[in-house]
Amino acid sequence: MATFDSYNLNQARTSTGAVREHDPGLPWCSDCDTDEYLIYEDFVPARIPAGADEYIAASVNYSCSVCGRFNGHEVPSSWSPPNWFWYT
Ligand SMILES: [Zn+2]
Repeated sequence: MATFDSYNLNQARTSTGAVREHDPGLPWCSDCDTDEYLIYEDFVPARIPAGADEYIAASVNYSCSVCGRFNGHEVPSSWSPPNWFWYT
């Protein structure tokens, strides 16, 4: 169960206390204020269904290996999980 906190989603504090921008469309653990510990469980790239004209947005499900928070949402088509490789 994910809670939505627009402040944490848009602004992440670094360890020095400085606020840096975080793209709210990208995977992020708002509890840990980092994406460093995320485990990507499912990733579906942007795609066009047969017979359709419009993209279905890429989406990802992930959890945080530190706090256990689970999240899943659409992501920009330019994004893919770290170390993600297409097999052709
Ligand atoms: Zn976390």
